[in-house]
Amino acid sequence: MESKYYIELEEQYGAHNYHPLDVVIERGEGVWVYDVEGNKYLDCLSAYSALNQGHVHPKILDAMVEQAKKVTLTSRAFRNQQLPLFYKELSEMTGYEMSLPMNSGAEAVETAIKLARKWAYKTKGIPYYESEIIVADGNFHGRTITIISFSTEEYYKKEFGPFTPGFKTVIYGNLESLESALTPNTAAIMLEPIQGEGGVIIPPLGYLQSVQSICQKNNILFIADEIQTGLGRTGKLFASQHENVRPDMVIIGKALSGGFYPVSAVLADREIMGLFQPGEHGSTFGGNPLGAAVARAALSVIQEEKLIERAEELGNYFKEELKKISSTHVKEVRGRGLLIGVELKPEAGGARRFCEVLKEKGILAKETHDNVIRFAPPLIISKDIIDWALPIIKDTLLMD
Ligand SMILES: *Cc1c(COP(=O)(O)O)cnc(C)c1O
Repeated sequence: MESKYYIELEEQYGAHNYHPLDVVIERGEGVWVYDVEGNKYLDCLSAYSALNQGHVHPKILDAMVEQAKKVTLTSRAFRNQQLPLFYKELSEMTGYEMSLPMNSGAEAVETAIKLARKWAYKTKGIPYYESEIIVADGNFHGRTITIISFSTEEYYKKEFGPFTPGFKTVIYGNLESLESALTPNTAAIMLEPIQGEGGVIIPPLGYLQSVQSICQKNNILFIADEIQTGLGRTGKLFASQHENVRPDMVIIGKALSGGFYPVSAVLADREIMGLFQPGEHGSTFGGNPLGAAVARAALSVIQEEKLIERAEELGNYFKEELKKISSTHVKEVRGRGLLIGVELKPEAGGARRFCEVLKEKGILAKETHDNVIRFAPPLIISKDIIDWALPIIKDTLLMD
């Protein structure tokens, strides 16, 4: 069957909550995907960084198949053999004493919010139900009602109220805005160290450091949403580490399972994570043995294949080469590691049309926020493949 057939089925029977490029992918391998006509494409989105290890990584596949043959779900009513090993390996890799596994990123964000609120009442002593969490404008933390309650994107939220109270919005990257939002009831500040969905927005150097010291001075938790920026994407294990910042809580997801299966987690030390008592939080699938086995393999691939170092080195190369393209459409090329945004001028006619052309030429990238093309290939990409892609990207950016 041809692409057209599947596209029509999807349009007819599926909710239209996405606007995908019209490529129907049948198979993926490493940095490449193949459509139903057999055309080959370089994946420069990596499922929003869930595929840092590349498509269908053989080691993660083996772990998944082997575990699927043994036991997949126990529920947390019973213990399983994989979860403790996952906890230990995650702690050793990240330096956080404890973690709490969930499934989607949004669930982990919700978990962090619950934990921050409990900390506010039990540890900080904020009066019940008066705690406030500060977030930044332009944020993306997921799609649940609570999370969209503090989105500043009108079309993420406009039709979906009433909203969850208890959040305050400040200007991303602006310390005065943050300081003026503080009250004795501030429990936490939650930020993305780089705003991925927001358009690969990097805050001014020193911002994360200053946020950390504001938090320490005022007894406030610093929560970093590293679901997209974490696990090597930006050339460090966590993007916060570019400023030597160690948040009180880190939220991870996406590449935590190498794209095989939804696994997310909240990381924190015992002092904070220890506040959860039995029955206060949970998830039927969270921490299941299949997810834990997959995540353990996904983490070990990041380490064994030195994906963090690769992201740093190849990301710098890719970014510098992109900067050399002198297209009148380009306003700025920015990024860290292999999370790169090419921002087009408003008069370029939007990033979408460039992504459509890139697709025709064998590169899959997706616009974010009208005018930004995000290049975030799997971290296993090689210099040769980047060198293959660069002239194609150049030609595309040079079109009228
Ligand atoms: C993708 C993403 C989320 C939401 O993750 P889901 O798995 O889609 O729920 C949250 N925060 C950031 C920064 C993300 O990139």
